[in-house]
This record gives sequence, structure tokens and C-alpha cells, in this order.
Amino acid sequence: MAVRLAVRGCGVLHAAARRSSLVSCRRWSGNSADTVYDVVVSGGGMVGAAMACALGHDIHFHDKKILLLEAGPKKVLEKLPDTYSNRVSAVSPGSATLLSSFGAWDHICSLRYRAFRRMQVWDGCSEALIMFDKDNLDDMGYIVENDVIMHALTEQLEAVSDRVTVLYRSKAVGYSWPGPFSVADSSPWVHITLGDGSNLQTTLLIGADGHNSGVRQAAGIQNVSWNYDQSAVVATLHLSEATENNVAWQRFLPSGPIALLPLSDTLSSLVWSTSHDHAAQLVSMGEEEFVDAVNSAFWSDANHSDFIGSASGLLQYALALLKPTRAPARQLPPSVARVDARSRVLFPLGLGHAAEYVRPRLALVGDAAHRVHPLAGQGVNMGFGDVSSLLRHLSAAAFDGKDLGSLSHLTCYETDRQRHNTALLAATDLLKRLYSTGAAPLVLLRTWGLQVTSAVSPLKEQIVAFASK
Ligand SMILES: Cc1cc2nc3c(=O)[nH]c(=O)nc-3n(C[C@H](O)[C@H](O)[C@H](O)COP(=O)(O)OP(=O)(O)OC[C@H]3O[C@@H](n4cnc5c(N)ncnc54)[C@H](O)[C@@H]3O)c2cc1C
Repeated sequence: MAVRLAVRGCGVLHAAARRSSLVSCRRWSGNSADTVYDVVVSGGGMVGAAMACALGHDIHFHDKKILLLEAGPKKVLEKLPDTYSNRVSAVSPGSATLLSSFGAWDHICSLRYRAFRRMQVWDGCSEALIMFDKDNLDDMGYIVENDVIMHALTEQLEAVSDRVTVLYRSKAVGYSWPGPFSVADSSPWVHITLGDGSNLQTTLLIGADGHNSGVRQAAGIQNVSWNYDQSAVVATLHLSEATENNVAWQRFLPSGPIALLPLSDTLSSLVWSTSHDHAAQLVSMGEEEFVDAVNSAFWSDANHSDFIGSASGLLQYALALLKPTRAPARQLPPSVARVDARSRVLFPLGLGHAAEYVRPRLALVGDAAHRVHPLAGQGVNMGFGDVSSLLRHLSAAAFDGKDLGSLSHLTCYETDRQRHNTALLAATDLLKRLYSTGAAPLVLLRTWGLQVTSAVSPLKEQIVAFASK
């Protein structure tokens, strides 16, 4: 993956180089009557709203003016619907800690979420499986509806409405940076034009406008991206019987991974990544046929072969001699009885990574900076991780009275996050490719890989720790 990992020093060394690349940006003919904000967050999805909330609740931002721009309408739940939404996220403990830090997690807890304590991942072409859990069966994560997260963030934005202005149904249609060496520019700030023709200025623009980010494009930041040959089908499923339902299940089929995420004792959420054609069929087929397809995808051994079975049996025997602990027994996922009407929707999948997360007076967060396959359930968690990191650096800069848009701290944010995000993107892409085949040599390779990973506790613990951030 041709990404530029930001392992450079956290300083202003590269400012001149970066400034010169901004020359191509559109010039601004300034208007001193424009409202000037300390920070403008463009894009009020889960990540942008969390960013604005985190800044609004930060003690060092108490005298700052923050603006959140969102093209869509305000998202509040007047009343929690009985029916669960088909859009959910597996939220990591690290993300829950961020949401707690400004009060949003309390709202989520008072509405609804489901903790999961184990995660079973297994191969559709062999018996290989890995079971992740924590000591004392602590929560590994939480399944939360995206609408519930947005509601919680909206409530917490209202709690700091004296510092954070939110403009809904307000699309930013143009961004421009002052020419770096021009004395004709009356203002050194970033200028933003809204769809209604009004203009704003800010000392720092945070792009949180999703994977097709207009901010990233306006800044001319390169984005390495490709579309996968898969779409994800999501749906809300009714289980055949009530269970403890505290396990997240994921099976890798040659056509793509299928995951069942707990919502309640009797409900789970489906994320099934498969070829575009198959995804379209899954969405349009009758409900009974769909339920049969889901059950068979979790239960069928049609892709198993005797050769892989014997080879993995041999390794399992050798591992048992070296480390005489019991290999985890394959647990069977709950069977599905019914699908919620109209809950089936598909999303084409892709990967994207911005070569730079920052420029002078600019930072990218969330899907604007990185887009990942949902097989690891990490997209929004990576975005919340960006928010935590950027908040930390901006809060320190505000405390020290520094210019918020200065590269001196923005590059530290970039370095922090690119280290984490590029590792996750690369691992997720590799897993997607490794498991998208039923070819015997690769099946054997990944089967052995999974068996060894499962047997080496410190490796497993490292994976859990990384995914919990
Ligand atoms: C099927 C599926 C399952 C997933 N499951 C998980 C999971 O379990 N766990 C997980 O961590 N992640 C998951 N993800 C990924 C996660 O949904 C995304 O990473 C996350 O939604 C990105 O949030 P964002 O706020 O960065 O971007 P977006 O959600 O794309 O929000 C961008 C916002 O910017 C606004 N906007 C855009 N342009 C402008 C403009 N010019 N002016 C003003 N506003 C603008 C848009 O209206 C939008 O509200 C999943 C993704 C998919 C597709």
C-alpha cells in the first residue's frame, strides 16, 4: 500500500514544503465582515460530532468559538423506537472511554447497547478457529446503533451550545487557504463558503466529511483508494430462541466474511460481505430464503476438505504436545428464525488512506482520512481514536496559548494516528485477501496461522489490546 507513514519528527521542519504545496489552492479575496471561528469541523457524522463535542467540553477551549457544519438534518431520537436500526457499530472500550469523557456514553447507556464478552472467528474452509476474550470475561466491546450514538452526541453538543454552534442542513461548498507569501491577502485564516453563499473564516479546519471528503480534495491531499469486489449486506435478525447472546461471531467464507453481532437476548445484527451480485440477490430474495442462506453460511461445512482437515489436525496435535492446554472448542452460533422487514440494505466496500492527515490550518479525521473494510469493525473506532489524539494535542496547544492551526502540534497528531491506522488498514486488507479464496495452499497457510495465533496467548492478547483501543 503506497501510503506515506508520518514518522518524521513532530515539528515545523516540513512546514515550508507543505506550504508550497498549498499554493495550488484557490486564493481568497477576503472579507473582514465574515464570522471568524477558532475551529470549524466540516461534517457532523459520528466522528465530526464527537470531535466538536470533545472540543466543546475541553476546559482549555472554554473561551474558543467552535462551529460544526453538517449537510444533513439534526439527528435526535424523540423516542427510542421499538425496532432496532440496521446500522450498528462495534464500539471498542477505548471509544467508549472517549465518549464517556464528555458525557455521551451515559446517554447511550440510558438508551440501549449490548456488551459482548467473546469473539469467535473461524474459517469457512477448515476447522480453524480463534476465540478472543479478556481476563475475567471483561467486556470486549459494545454493539450500539449508529442512531443512538448520534443522539447521544447531539445531546452533548446542546450541553455546550454556548461554545459550539451547530449548523444543520449547511453544506460547505468551497474551502480556500490564503496564499502563503502574498501580502495582498487580508486574512491568514481558512475560508469556507456555504451552500447559501455565506462565508466563514477559521484558524483551524477539521475535515470530518467522510470518505469522499471535499476538504481533502480542496487541499489537494492524495488519497490511496480502491473499491473492493464486495458489498456488505446489513440486516436485523431474530434468533430462534433467547440466549445470553454476548458473543460476536464472524466466519470467513471464500465469498467474504459474515458477522453476527448481539443486540439483545433475541436479536442480532448481520454484516455479510460478499460479491456485489450475491449481495444484490440477498437483498432482493424472499425472507425465508434469506434466513436459510444466513443459517447455511454459518453452519454449512460444504467448503471443508479432508486434506486440510488432516493437515490442521496434525498441527493441532503438535501444538497440544508443546502446550498441553485445551484448544478452544468450536461453539455454534445461534440459529436465525426471521429477518426484520425492510432491514436489508447493502453498502459497496472500499479502502482509502490519505497520504497526509494535516496541512497548515487543516486536519483530517475519520473516514475523510481512512476507509477500511468492516471485517475488523474498526472504521468508526479509528475515527474516535483520531478525535482522542487530536483533542490531546489541541488542548495542550490551547493551554500554551499557541496558534491552533500550527503544524508544530498537528504533525504530532498525524504521526500518532498514521502509525496506528496504517497498521490496521494493512492488516484488514491482508485478511480480506487471504480469506477471499478456497485455494488449498492458502487455506492451509491461514488455517495453520490461525491455529498458531490461537495457541500463542501473548499474541492473542496483543491483538485484543490493539483492537480495544
Ligand atoms: C456495513 C458497515 C458496517 C460497519 N461497521 C462498523 C463497526 O462495527 N465498527 C466500526 O468502528 N466501524 C464500522 N463501520 C465504519 C463506520 O461506519 C465509518 O467508519 C463511520 O461511519 C465514519 O464516520 P465519519 O463521521 O468519519 O464519516 P461519515 O459517517 O461519512 O460522516 C460524514 C458526514 O459529513 C457530512 N458532510 C459531507 N460533506 C459535507 C459538506 N461539504 N459540508 C457539510 N457536511 C458534510 C455528511 O452529511 C456526513 O454526516 C462500518 C461501515 C459499514 C459500511
